[in-house]
Amino acid sequence: MSRLRLSCDPLYHIGRRPPVLSEPVGVVLLGATGSIGTQTVELAERYPDKVRVLGLSAGGRVDELSNLVARLERAGAAEAPAVTLAYDDSHRRAREDARLSRNLLPSGREGLLELAALPGADCVVNGLVGAVGLEPTLAAAKAGRRIALANKESLVVGGDLVRRAVVQGGADVIPVDSEHSALAQCLAGRDPDEIESLTLTASGGPFRTLSAAEMSTVTREQVLKHPTWEMGPKITVDSATLMNKGLEVIEAHVLFGLPYSRLDVVVHPGSTVHSLAVFRDGSVMAQLGAPDMRVPLLYALGGERHLDLETERLDLAVLGELHFEAPDPERFPCLRLAREAGEAGGTATITLNGANEAAVAALLDDTLAYTDIARVIEGALEALPAVPVDTLEDALTADAEARRVAETLIKETFGA
Ligand code: MG
Repeated sequence: MSRLRLSCDPLYHIGRRPPVLSEPVGVVLLGATGSIGTQTVELAERYPDKVRVLGLSAGGRVDELSNLVARLERAGAAEAPAVTLAYDDSHRRAREDARLSRNLLPSGREGLLELAALPGADCVVNGLVGAVGLEPTLAAAKAGRRIALANKESLVVGGDLVRRAVVQGGADVIPVDSEHSALAQCLAGRDPDEIESLTLTASGGPFRTLSAAEMSTVTREQVLKHPTWEMGPKITVDSATLMNKGLEVIEAHVLFGLPYSRLDVVVHPGSTVHSLAVFRDGSVMAQLGAPDMRVPLLYALGGERHLDLETERLDLAVLGELHFEAPDPERFPCLRLAREAGEAGGTATITLNGANEAAVAALLDDTLAYTDIARVIEGALEALPAVPVDTLEDALTADAEARRVAETLIKETFGA
């Protein structure tokens, strides 16, 4: 029987028996005040015997960071953890804060990279938003950490770089994205040769049933209303354009090593089935559950084991039915653009991501219409042909170029 070939070495160790962790696991939390960050803090509060937070980063929300540290210390899940803030003015304010000033690292990129490789930590939860998450992922990988990765942009922008750093540092990447965690769970104990294809489920976002004409007049507020998951604004916009699923297809390619032709997407509005693996005999494994990000987070933090968690239990009889449909590439062109960029490789996925981040920022600023997001990204991909990526510098240059081209398009062609 012919072997089904993987198209690259999988970043995730399919079939590997997870290591037994000594508890508590020392955790560094990047993006502590975001959705992933605060849910990690909740888990640490509940399981201080399992999770000990050694460091936290935030953007500019000094008071929120201080409150998170207070909560962790009250629960016995931290003791004067190292902290850093992205912005200098916030960092100055943190110096005046009794809790944050005890163990304050430098601000900005320097502090973030120091935190990502913090001595004594076992696991780094990367809950940063956007391509800014790549360098900390590389730092954590080179330091040999277990990386609970929620920042999909790390893999979209620097898939090959992360793979190299993981090998170099003897690190481990455990996906926290719910679909990829679902796939990791479906593939537990399997051989890569057994996999025929993987299917990612997509909620379809808030505009699943709108016509193309109706989509052209949606407002920023409508874009920010996700039907099933509660998340930060960037990923919520990405879910409305289906770019989130596009980025996740690229993420799945890097994590599991399958060619794009064997990575499928199906729209599943209820978000009950989190993804599915199809095996060579036609057998399909799916992972189901109520949509709750704490499940994939705890699975990653707990060394890929199913630990006790009080969550809503799935009642299939109450649910009654599961609904699936094919995604519409006409109304959701971002999915097609992501797949094409993935196939093109090199800088194409960086251009896709950088242009998307610029377009999403413009939509959140109310200077770009929802339907123009895909047009900006397509314009950037046309203007910047793909070239190979060998170094971090190549990736950062391509990212800056993509943003520059996208911002020009937003200002001169599409902007309101
Ligand atoms: Mg996801």
